[in-house]
Amino acid sequence: MFVIVGGGICGLAIGWRLAAAGRPVTVLERGEAGRGATWAAAGMLAPQAEAEHAEEALLPLAMESCARWRGFADELLAASGIDVDYRDEGTIVVALDRDDREHLEHRFDYFRTLGLDLEWLSGYEARQREPCLARAVTAAIYSASDHQVDSRRAAAALKAAYLAAGGILREGVAVDEILVSGNRVTGVRAGDEEIAAEAVVIAAGAWSRNIPGIPEAARPPVRPLKGQMIALRMETGNPILRHVVWGPGLSLVPQVYFAPKSDGRLLIGATVEEMGFDTGLTGGGLFELLRQAYEALPGIYELPVDETWAGLRPASRDDAPILGPTSVDGLVMATGHHRNGILLAPVTADYVARYLLDGEVAAAMRPFMLDRFRRPVEATA
Ligand SMILES: Cc1cc2nc3c(=O)[nH]c(=O)nc-3n(C[C@H](O)[C@H](O)[C@H](O)COP(=O)(O)OP(=O)(O)OC[C@H]3O[C@@H](n4cnc5c(N)ncnc54)[C@H](O)[C@@H]3O)c2cc1C
Repeated sequence: MFVIVGGGICGLAIGWRLAAAGRPVTVLERGEAGRGATWAAAGMLAPQAEAEHAEEALLPLAMESCARWRGFADELLAASGIDVDYRDEGTIVVALDRDDREHLEHRFDYFRTLGLDLEWLSGYEARQREPCLARAVTAAIYSASDHQVDSRRAAAALKAAYLAAGGILREGVAVDEILVSGNRVTGVRAGDEEIAAEAVVIAAGAWSRNIPGIPEAARPPVRPLKGQMIALRMETGNPILRHVVWGPGLSLVPQVYFAPKSDGRLLIGATVEEMGFDTGLTGGGLFELLRQAYEALPGIYELPVDETWAGLRPASRDDAPILGPTSVDGLVMATGHHRNGILLAPVTADYVARYLLDGEVAAAMRPFMLDRFRRPVEATA
């Protein structure tokens, strides 16, 4: 049997693939499945708009996953009956003043060196697409292929699809120890119960590093990175926004973004804070989000607040996911997805499941294995 530790989007998606292949699999989830970082996420599938210097290695994997999402969403709908609210209007990144505009031009040039398919818009053209954007918007970049889903619906759909395929989900069961004998994983311990497994997948998000029993050499370098979010409620039938919109990225505070959902919620995120496992909301965090959001989209002033929350991104040392086998036989990673875990769910599920089912390490997964952190610097350069 396969055991998966953690019932977030990664654990559920891998479990679904394994169960659908007819293999016995159990997901052990300490709380309620889908209530970790997956619950907190904005659901953006934005490999282009979020491309960063020093993360070029991640771009092909992120682009591949983004391209797979529409099919993944269709497959989930067929398997679960749940629509994940896949939206393909695209993403707009706006500049508000001259400094922003210069910064955006610089990013646009950089994006072009990466061969990304983006369009430069004047402020007027940006407002033609999104009439409620502030008059101060002077320029924008439009990415037609950066889409979005509702991450909470995606988790619900995955849970239903996984169960329908015959997977076992045990919620409220924390894994207290990974059991290893010699250099091979033998199972896990949850309380007094030992559960034998031929392979154990660590999909425990921000908590992945701290699970007792993982040998030091196979401990994933993952830490929590807190993000506070706000949801406002848009007028029914008259949403203030249709695209995902990113604010300017120049200031020291993180770039604000908007993700409008079909149920009328307008998600605004997100802070980026090194606060350990703290998930408290702060006046300063929410104030900064709203202040920046108001500058780009003044119409939010009138909108009722629907919800506020914070979640923990599972950030790895190099911000890329940690996937596949480790130096311990049968111990497999699916963690460290940082701010891209929703985007990367389809490739994570397919590549990790393929390894578990056939022993095949896909070429696209190899650069993201745990051993990249152990290799000498010359070898990885
Ligand atoms: C504010 C915010 C906004 C984000 N926006 C986006 C976005 O727009 N697009 C995007 O792609 N990504 C986004 N992300 C990132 C994304 O949410 C994560 O990368 C993704 O959800 C990680 O999924 P996961 O399954 O690895 O982890 P999680 O969803 O955190 O699931 C891990 C699960 O493991 C369980 N667990 C932990 N320890 C144990 C144990 N010992 N035993 C049993 N169970 C255990 C936890 O309870 C949890 O349910 C965002 C994250 C945040 C915080």
